[in-house]
Amino acid sequence: MITVFGSANMDLVAYVERAPELGETVSGREFRTICGGKGANQAIASALAGGDVRFVGAVGSDGFGADLREALDRSGVDTRALRTVDGPSGIAHIVVEDGGANSIIVVPGANGEVSEEDARTVSADAPQGRSAAGRTTDALLLQLELPMPAVVAAARAFSGLVVLTPAPVVPLPRELLDAVGLLLPNEHEAAAITGLPAPEEALEALLALVPEAVVTLGADGAIYGSRDGSRLRVPGRPVEAVDTTAAGDTFAGAFTVARTEGRTAQEALEFATAAAALSVQRPGASTSMPTREEIDAEVR
Ligand code: ATP
Repeated sequence: MITVFGSANMDLVAYVERAPELGETVSGREFRTICGGKGANQAIASALAGGDVRFVGAVGSDGFGADLREALDRSGVDTRALRTVDGPSGIAHIVVEDGGANSIIVVPGANGEVSEEDARTVSADAPQGRSAAGRTTDALLLQLELPMPAVVAAARAFSGLVVLTPAPVVPLPRELLDAVGLLLPNEHEAAAITGLPAPEEALEALLALVPEAVVTLGADGAIYGSRDGSRLRVPGRPVEAVDTTAAGDTFAGAFTVARTEGRTAQEALEFATAAAALSVQRPGASTSMPTREEIDAEVR
């Protein structure tokens, strides 16, 4: 089973020719509400990729909260541990200019209410353990859009594989890193964490912090390393990208599903690379994520 302990946001996206200056009003071309937040995105990606997934977090008592819960339910995510708290849901207010440049304001709302108490749910209800073959069968997927004390508590409480996508970039407490099994940054996050711009060098530095790491490289694919000396590289698939939103979350979800099924790191990288390549060929975040059937058809 995969437990995602993370954020759920409603993305409020306005498409404009040019973003307004301070004090200015401009007319937009189009407006969309899209379910997002890195936690919800990774949960939906994992469920569509064939994982048995539950989501622990919080939405508000407003209409966005109901919509977010429904989007997770529809994708097959177990939302019984998703709390509804009084007040607004988390939102991301996004302005996208022609040409793709964007500016974003995130208001955490209910995500800011997620506590160390919620983190206890992560370990309390999860049937943790290892399969007879000694492979990891349970994983916890974390990102950094919840209050840090809650994230740390969840990581420390969980006994299976803890996978952390370190976004947004904030200082990583030692006690969090000590509980993380696999770190999964993109190349920019890897550089920010280690101070090393070359991804291969950053990967080596990350392995001083955690036992396994994957650095995603956009269209160039991903590199993997583990403390047992393994180093792998999987190139990106040559596809026409129309929208790379949530490519990283799709990768993280699919990679974790493959690992919880006992597949090797090489197999998990190939599975995740195929899933992410499918997602970049379609618009949107959760709307672009592929199903297990679609991913299997690509990796066969
Ligand atoms: P995002 O913030 O857009 O969710 P990210 O910055 O976290 O993404 P990336 O490294 O950009 O993560 O992409 C994750 C994975 O998605 C890559 O490892 C690769 O497999 C796939 N990918 C991303 N962009 C492309 C592309 N243009 N063509 C093919 N695959 C891509």
